[in-house]
Amino acid sequence: MKIILSLYLVFAVILTQFFAAYFFSKGRTSYRKAFSAVVLGVSIYLFGYLMIINASNLQEMIFWNQFQYFGLPFIPVLWLIVALLYTKTIYSLSNRMLILLFAVPVITLIIRQTNMWHHFFYTSWGIGQCFGYSSLHLDRGFWYYVNISYTILCLITTIVIYIIGFLRNKVGSTRAHFMVFLIASFLPLLGIAMLLFSYERMCIDYVAILMPITLLIISYGILKFDFLEIRTLARETIFENNLAGMVVLGPGKIIVDYNKAAEKFFENINITLNNYPIDRILKNEPKLLEIFGSEENQDYSLVIDGEERFFEIDTVPIGNLQDVNVRMLKSIRDVTEERKIQRKLKFLATTDSLSGLYNRAEFMDLAQMEFALAKMNNEELSLLMIDIDKFKNINDSFGHSAGDEVIREIGRMTKNNFRKTDIAGRIGGEEFAVILKNATLSEAEKVAEMFREAVSKREVIYGEDEISFTVSIGVASIHGDNDIIYNIEDTLKMADDALCKAKAKGRNCVVTYADR
Ligand code: GH3
Ligand code: MG
Ligand code: MG
Repeated sequence: MKIILSLYLVFAVILTQFFAAYFFSKGRTSYRKAFSAVVLGVSIYLFGYLMIINASNLQEMIFWNQFQYFGLPFIPVLWLIVALLYTKTIYSLSNRMLILLFAVPVITLIIRQTNMWHHFFYTSWGIGQCFGYSSLHLDRGFWYYVNISYTILCLITTIVIYIIGFLRNKVGSTRAHFMVFLIASFLPLLGIAMLLFSYERMCIDYVAILMPITLLIISYGILKFDFLEIRTLARETIFENNLAGMVVLGPGKIIVDYNKAAEKFFENINITLNNYPIDRILKNEPKLLEIFGSEENQDYSLVIDGEERFFEIDTVPIGNLQDVNVRMLKSIRDVTEERKIQRKLKFLATTDSLSGLYNRAEFMDLAQMEFALAKMNNEELSLLMIDIDKFKNINDSFGHSAGDEVIREIGRMTKNNFRKTDIAGRIGGEEFAVILKNATLSEAEKVAEMFREAVSKREVIYGEDEISFTVSIGVASIHGDNDIIYNIEDTLKMADDALCKAKAKGRNCVVTYADR
């Protein structure tokens, strides 16, 4: 009998060790971790039992019994936690909950290890002989009953949780999962009942005998349904390791789950995520709170290590669309690089690389917009057309690159001499245009004259050469000549006519459309 029992236990210990390692290696999901802890607890407990029945004296037996309690008290509560997490009754454990759940097991461990001083757990012990092997005979103290009551409470709660899960679930395969867990949870309860009422007669720890069977049932479930495997694992791995931060909000906007990336995002603003309502977590971050409270997709920017980073915060309803108030997933995506590329592309597409001013297409778009605005608000608006005089000569005398340098210089001067609100573009080879907002024709003429003068005094040093250059400017305004003209093309044409006049007059001068 002893040999059979020992062999059985050796087999069971190996099995449990294997399971503990197997589940532990299967990702970092909360319930899977809890499950591997259960199996490890069972393994410690069974190994202790194996050593007890093979011990040669009472002292050794007491030692191994003490050893068992490093695993035993934690099994039922961990089993309950697996149930809570697996059925999604809760999504994660708060510290308060952990303390509450583990209080009795931890006290049991301490009391059992210090029993020789107070005898709260076992009042006395001796060796009993049954079926050809010796076994421990223990008289139970009051804390033994506290612990066993707590164990029973945990197991019954677990069973209730699985029954509810089973009844609620309509999907056949999920129901089968619950059924496996349900049966597996019944067995230890049965063992405890037998232990309490008939240990004396048989000297066998029925729980130890039933535990490996429980684990076998579960392993059957795993092999049959693959339920701790690929599908769930894949989903959880994707969630956990996603580069986008993810925060799952449940009823009352409570944070029920979040991934590593979300944790990292909130670390930047010194916020630790926890299973609290979002308005409590973000009470000092009104802008973020508004984003997380709303169902809209919104942008958010944050300075991290001195660099501005951009985040797109999207809302994905979970389950029923109508349930968006109750359950939703907020994803936080770092779009900084995208934005940088977008900005760069936009810059390249809208800017003339030589002068640094807007290119023709962008200038026309912006000019059109400004014209529409001016029309709407009945505001003044003027346009300058600037052309470099005898530019061909500059190219011919000093070379094309020298000409380019002159264009660059005109670009710089345009940026420096006009207001920030004015819009300047290079609209042709050596032609520039500037829109002056809120400027009458005569005001624009003055500005143009100042610019012309500034250019005429400027020289570009190119190698050994000092290149002087001049510009001619034509000015037009939408309030010119009493007629109000709102058409950009017409106004450009008017400014161009004025420019032609300036060229005809001998260049290096300003002509307005009015004095054409
Ligand atoms: P005007 O006073 O009548 O305007 O005489 P102009 O020589 O400036 O005018 P024209 O239109 O005859 O010649 C413009 C020259 O500008 C011709 C062209 O080779 C040169 N050009 C156009 N684009 C560029 C450029 O990007 N770089 C350089 N270096 N030259 C350019
Ligand atoms: Mg020219
Ligand atoms: Mg020209």
